[in-house]
Amino acid sequence: MKYYDQIKQQTEDPAMQIENLIREFFQTSPENSMNFEHIERVFDEPLVGFSNGGDPLFEFLKKDIGSPCMTPVEIFRTSFPDIEARADDLTVISWVLPQTRLTKNDNRKETAFPSERWARAKHYGAAFNKALMIHVANILKKTGIAAVAPVLAPIFTIGVSERYGLASSWSERHAAYVSGLGTFGLCDGLITPRGKAMACGSVIAQIRITPTPRSYTDHHAWCLFYAKGTCGLCVKRCPAGALSKEGHNKNLCSEYEHGVAQEYIRSHFGIDDYACGLCQTGTPCESKNPVRHSGKTGYQDVHNRQDHGSNVGNSS
Ligand code: SF4
Ligand code: SF4
Repeated sequence: MKYYDQIKQQTEDPAMQIENLIREFFQTSPENSMNFEHIERVFDEPLVGFSNGGDPLFEFLKKDIGSPCMTPVEIFRTSFPDIEARADDLTVISWVLPQTRLTKNDNRKETAFPSERWARAKHYGAAFNKALMIHVANILKKTGIAAVAPVLAPIFTIGVSERYGLASSWSERHAAYVSGLGTFGLCDGLITPRGKAMACGSVIAQIRITPTPRSYTDHHAWCLFYAKGTCGLCVKRCPAGALSKEGHNKNLCSEYEHGVAQEYIRSHFGIDDYACGLCQTGTPCESKNPVRHSGKTGYQDVHNRQDHGSNVGNSS
């Protein structure tokens, strides 16, 4: 495999090789399919970001969210108990898989339940994302680099954070946020340079890669509601009353998705899965960063802000 030697030698920053292997899998994997009778990919071209496992934001998130949230080094050491690893020996490889124009167009028209394309993208997209995680981790392992996909690790759990309610040991959106790929919106979705209608995934690897700069200084910088005091369209889009100016009620959202929405998807599309995504489409942040914030990189600014600590974990 052409990537093995390039990554293994590490004569140059291997970021490009890892990005290429993600893009190649995106282009060639049969799992990147909506499983219609015609050929249609689930996702558009991925975005890739990197963060160092010792980035203080990971420790901050663990403290802020509390149990069950874990740091990259905790997950790595639990997955590879025989390998000595310091936090800053690790890199979090994070990616964003944007929804296609067709999927967004369809879901934008809906007002109560997700469109068939959205439901398919959720269901088959999760399978593709999982296959991508396994592929990236396996390629790295074959080069001698220990790697684990946190959400596929046996240690992965979903529990209840005392402060924020439903939470998991690893949040893909928080990993993407630390890896320079976007900031959170009023509805808790991550607004990336390609917008909020997307899925994301990650792998933690024992490899040093230059972190992707974060072009924001606040975890809500790309949301119009927080940045400019305007918008709030995601609140109007929510059919479950789970969004308000106070943010995202995870319990109402989950009840809706796993209740009437799942039943609708099963009975109308023959897919046994939950989905919604109405707040991710038909909004100014659907396909782009609507604020076009161009602040300086600076997690320290974020880390030191009192308001940052007050609710960043709520997006877990
Ligand atoms: S729809 Fe508006 S308020 Fe909601 S997350 Fe997007 S930019 Fe923020
Ligand atoms: S996913 Fe659906 S139910 Fe949940 S907050 Fe968004 S619009 Fe509301």
